[in-house]
Amino acid sequence: MTNKPDSEDNEILGLHHVTAIAGNPQTNIDFYTGILGLRLVKLTVNFDDPNTYHLYYGDKVGHPGSVLTFFPWPNAPRGVRGTGQVTVTSFSIPDGSMDYWKVRLRENRVRAEEVATRFDGKEEYLTFYDNDDLKLELVTSDKSKSLAERFVPWERSPVTQERAIRGFHSVVLSEEGYEKTASLLKDTMRFRLVEEEGERFRYESSSGGPTTFVDLICQPALLRGIVLAGTVHHVAFRTSDDNQQKTWREDIIKAGLNPTPVIDRQYFHSVYFREPGGVLFEIATDPPGFTLDEPEDKLGTTLKLPPWLEPSRKRIEKALPKVELFGAAKKPLVQNQAIA
Ligand code: ZN
Repeated sequence: MTNKPDSEDNEILGLHHVTAIAGNPQTNIDFYTGILGLRLVKLTVNFDDPNTYHLYYGDKVGHPGSVLTFFPWPNAPRGVRGTGQVTVTSFSIPDGSMDYWKVRLRENRVRAEEVATRFDGKEEYLTFYDNDDLKLELVTSDKSKSLAERFVPWERSPVTQERAIRGFHSVVLSEEGYEKTASLLKDTMRFRLVEEEGERFRYESSSGGPTTFVDLICQPALLRGIVLAGTVHHVAFRTSDDNQQKTWREDIIKAGLNPTPVIDRQYFHSVYFREPGGVLFEIATDPPGFTLDEPEDKLGTTLKLPPWLEPSRKRIEKALPKVELFGAAKKPLVQNQAIA
């Protein structure tokens, strides 16, 4: 380790979570747990709209960097994937797993493209889509090995452990013009440009590698994105604690942007702001994490509400559509019955 001045110790540690809009919550649960083999690490509601679920998927404990979350709106129209959005969310898979996943997606009738490569063949990726047309990728790269230690597959996943998804690889930001976003990433958030190919510029933060990558793609011909079902609502970046988050908030204001106050999301604390290209960014703390209100072996098995919504539990449970947890839980979770 080199000695760095204090101000530079404040690093964006990589991606924290990605939040997208879905349609039917059951279809969403079946896809992400049943096919992709992620664990539902939290079943809760959208704190800003408590009649809607907020579903969190991740590795065994929902480590920051592995967490894809959804607001499922059963009757939401399809959105438009376009500029001002995260248009691709990529997961890392272990080396040598691409054939396994190709077959798995095909057998489950998942819409997928052919395996392709980028950056002179250094990176192999498989593009596919969930039932709401959210664009996803599975990526292998030479750094995937180190991720095996950081992300712990869920042992009851239907995907074999040695093939399991190991957190995020990267996200793609589609931009009409990229200079201001590039400057935000580089000058304010201290990302480094590490690769470029055509209109794709890859930035990384902190120690670098998968889960710290942000690919900026300049796509002026693309339609402006509309955030509805099948699109990403926002992307969150990791900060280690509340103090560092405070510093980030000040730095974002200095960059001329307009962050929210710190908002308590129970499992992390959040500051949101819109980057110059229109993508909603969040800076989220690593702690306290998903074991805050239920033990590790019970994550995602009952509906959790923050203390301020607990008095409304009966009404909220009645308004939410019933869902059954897929796979390991076996026991259907019926929302309209009392949940202990
Ligand atoms: Zn978020």
